[in-house]
Amino acid sequence: MKSYRKELWFETKTRRAFINITPQVAQIVRESGIQEGLVLVNAMHITASVFINDDESGLHHDFELWLEKLAPEKPYSQYHHNGFEDNADAHLKRQIMGREVVVAISNGKLDFGPWEQIFYGEFDGKRRKRVLVKVIGE
Ligand code: ZN
Repeated sequence: MKSYRKELWFETKTRRAFINITPQVAQIVRESGIQEGLVLVNAMHITASVFINDDESGLHHDFELWLEKLAPEKPYSQYHHNGFEDNADAHLKRQIMGREVVVAISNGKLDFGPWEQIFYGEFDGKRRKRVLVKVIGE
């Protein structure tokens, strides 16, 4: 079995953002040379997510509103976690949107269902953060 590891780095200008990282993951799968296997893509931070969904701006706006209803950013004082930090909402949002995805690789390509795309979800941005991409197979 072969394996291949790479990191993707992000520094968003806003506190929250959704970034389609499918092209970068597909490129890493190509670089790996693996034809049949799995790729794991996970956020390496506890205030960011990796998830699969539709690349549709209306839906992304819906996610933002939905997450703000569930875990509003403000007031910061509503959260016990916000003693020295102000990112309790980001931890909660990340928990809902998930840490990682695993995608099958078939014939050297990401084996997606219709409309599936991989996103990096940032909930406490404006600093350098990374995603791990690990490819295994043959
Ligand atoms: Zn925190």
